[in-house]
Amino acid sequence: MNGHSERTVLIVEDEEALATLLRYNLEREGYRVFESRDGEDALLLADENKPDLVLLDWMLPKLSGIEICRRLRGRGHMRNVPIVMLTARGEETDRIRGLDTGADDYIVKPFSMNELLARVRAVMRRVRPALVEDLLEIGEISIDRGNHRVRRGERDIHLGPTEYRLLDQLMQHPGRVFSREQLLDTVWGSDIYVEARTVDVHVGRLRKALNNTGERDPIRTVRSAGYSFDETFAKSDARMIG
Ligand code: CA
Repeated sequence: MNGHSERTVLIVEDEEALATLLRYNLEREGYRVFESRDGEDALLLADENKPDLVLLDWMLPKLSGIEICRRLRGRGHMRNVPIVMLTARGEETDRIRGLDTGADDYIVKPFSMNELLARVRAVMRRVRPALVEDLLEIGEISIDRGNHRVRRGERDIHLGPTEYRLLDQLMQHPGRVFSREQLLDTVWGSDIYVEARTVDVHVGRLRKALNNTGERDPIRTVRSAGYSFDETFAKSDARMIG
């Protein structure tokens, strides 16, 4: 469907409902997803598909998550692939053991989908910077930096260069509030004199371009502080799960 789905995630999780929910949300972010319910299957899938990241449940039938982690690390092509473990609350020593075994990160159940997706992005960025930074995607809005293409769902969004940089800046740090002065510095460059009010004008243009009638506005105006990209925009589903 889009050309960025080469980033693949292998989910190893025996709870079908959770695996399905993870798959749904990861696919919405543009990842290609493989699922397995147990360790042996996971090792086969990892060999066949060479995933870019593994989400690995701790408690699994047959092989434990830890054992799978160790075996994955033993495979040459999986040595540097990030592994994020999903653990139940309170397994502190297990978690530490997980990191010792070669997991890159862990997430404690129950977790919010927002948190999980943010962690996945962070790990991907850390391990495969070139791969991720070409494409910035939150919910249905995406920026392809390779060709400066912005989309909302199936729609192409045409932005002027300033609106483009503004959106890029805000989307790089969802939830973070930028003052007008900060945006002037990063988007316009600090050596150019522009009035702070100019930022409002360009945010207005950006909104007009992004939002059709009835669509949710991803940009929040934070009174007397500035603007931010709404970090809840990605999710219809911010419930706690797992
Ligand atoms: Ca489980």
